Amino acid sequence: MSNRTTSSSTRRGTTYASSSDSPFQTCNCGEPVVMRTSWTSANLGRRFRGCSGYRLMKLKRLYCGIFEWIDPPMCPRAMEIIPGLLKRISRSDSKLKELNKELANVESMRRRATKIILCLLVVWVITIVAMKP
Ligand SMILES: [Zn+2]
Repeated sequence: MSNRTTSSSTRRGTTYASSSDSPFQTCNCGEPVVMRTSWTSANLGRRFRGCSGYRLMKLKRLYCGIFEWIDPPMCPRAMEIIPGLLKRISRSDSKLKELNKELANVESMRRRATKIILCLLVVWVITIVAMKP
């Protein structure tokens, strides 16, 4: 148990345990290990698991160093393609946001137009009734 950190660092980059067959269920901090997905350009979409203090790596007392990759390294072709796909998704998302804004504007204009038409209809009916001899 005391060599967990050591065995984890020798495993780094070499074993790709599925989350269930990994020897680490808790880290040296005594916390359950967490699974995350990397979004760095070198490891896009690659899952890893380890100490829940991973993001606080610089604060050594909150990160015990337990870390292992779940997925194997990306192939060069995937590393070439995925960033472009992510950019495309991001562009589509912003376009969708824009379109939803426009749709909301059109909806509110439609509601306003309906109110105006109803008002004009009421005025017209009142005028017709009032003009009757
Ligand atoms: Zn830990």
